[in-house]
Amino acid sequence: MASSVSDVVDPATGRTVTTVPQLDAPGADAAIEAAHAAFAEWRRVSPADRGRLLRRFAEVVDGAIGELAALEVRNSGHTIANARWEAGNVRDVLHYYSAAPERAFGRQIPVAGGVDITFQEPLGVVCVVVPWNFPMPILSWGMAPALAAGNTVVVKPAEVTPLTAVRIGELALEAGLPDGVLTVLTGKGSVVGDRLVRHPLVRKICFTGSTEVGTGIMALAAEQVKRVTLELGGKSANIVFADADLERAAASAPMAVFDNAGQDCCARSRILVERPAYDRFLELLEPAVAAVRVTDPSDEDADMGPLISAAHRDRVAAYVDDSVEVAYRGEAPGGDGFWYPPTVVLPGGAGDRVWREEVFGPVVSVLAFDGEEEAATMANDTQYGLSGSIWTRDVGRALRVSRAVEAGNLSVNSHASVRYSTPFGGYKSSGLGRELGPDALDAFSETKNVFIDTEG
Ligand code: NDP
Repeated sequence: MASSVSDVVDPATGRTVTTVPQLDAPGADAAIEAAHAAFAEWRRVSPADRGRLLRRFAEVVDGAIGELAALEVRNSGHTIANARWEAGNVRDVLHYYSAAPERAFGRQIPVAGGVDITFQEPLGVVCVVVPWNFPMPILSWGMAPALAAGNTVVVKPAEVTPLTAVRIGELALEAGLPDGVLTVLTGKGSVVGDRLVRHPLVRKICFTGSTEVGTGIMALAAEQVKRVTLELGGKSANIVFADADLERAAASAPMAVFDNAGQDCCARSRILVERPAYDRFLELLEPAVAAVRVTDPSDEDADMGPLISAAHRDRVAAYVDDSVEVAYRGEAPGGDGFWYPPTVVLPGGAGDRVWREEVFGPVVSVLAFDGEEEAATMANDTQYGLSGSIWTRDVGRALRVSRAVEAGNLSVNSHASVRYSTPFGGYKSSGLGRELGPDALDAFSETKNVFIDTEG
């Protein structure tokens, strides 16, 4: 089953902390077949019992928050405060969707000659492909509503960040979920992930990761009319109007992009400042960037840890070559970890690579704009459309610009765009479909319509 093992590396030190099995394609097939066999029973578990099991799963996760957080610090370099929040998010998402089985209502639709009713039915085996940037939350956003809808779930964590997923799989069994209902498969995307996408018994792929891999998955899924949800890249705009509370806007801008070392699809990596406020905003931003504490992620005071790998750090660093004007940089430790300092750059224009491409690291670009129309035009001048922020004291402007920006998750005078109770997803190349919120089960269910003749 496991053809080999792969190293799990601590990004803060560059040292190998453990190894995990790398499954091969026949191993993945066997797990998919087991998940399919478990589906027959799981779909028949009563809605109340399914809800109860998900609540128990949430409680077991709650009891393991410290352990899960410590694993994530070591495996992913997340700050301890973030890692605790992420484990708590898994608990909360499970709690939220534990109420769903008993509320998965169909409808009764008025028709002539009888009664027409609809049923929400599970799809079968659902695969959740998880990236390395948020191993725990993204796993739970697919897993919890899929299980609540009565599907069995196979999770493929990123090759470099498998540890919390493996532990969450064990916690599910401790909570009493039957064997085969939740399965975590470690291994390469090109082997295990590819098998999951191609296997006919997998009826839905819930993928988060790069636009390139997501596009390939969608093309393959089309061959079997397999359902897909895609959460892909972003290049989100943080639009600051001159009438905004500039102190608050500048104080919050660094962590809107440097949180998780910028490895966040929602990172506000383009700051657009209305021209009359541009100089003042840059003045206010400098001390806020200098205050970002980049240090050992297990330190309670850490704001930012290392990048995920040496290769990724090189990729990020390549965006800030000699042709790019650096306004200022924060601090970062030296040593063997994969560190990169928070960096503010001033591109020559909207055509520059650092302004256009997803850097996925702690690099933010700042440009000036003139007026509402140009703000929206510049914000929309990208293939992506995931998130964004709008800073203004004018409520009418806030709403006009919110409607004009082509992105799935916007915040006004705030950068908070992800909550388990509200829908999350992207426009354009940022994705397809929505996760979270009250309607998430729709993405993991089929609607069946039944007409009963009452006249015959
Ligand atoms: P990928 O898209 O390659 O990986 C995401 C997930 O997909 C991983 O679990 C990966 O497995 C898996 N995968 C890879 N290839 C396949 C395949 N053919 N079939 C099925 N699953 C597959 O992202 P990267 O890790 O390479 O990151 C590259 C860039 O993508 C980042 O620098 C960033 O710009 C962007 N990205 C965006 C994310 C987001 O949240 N929107 C998240 C992560 C990355 P494995 O790890 O084993 O290869």
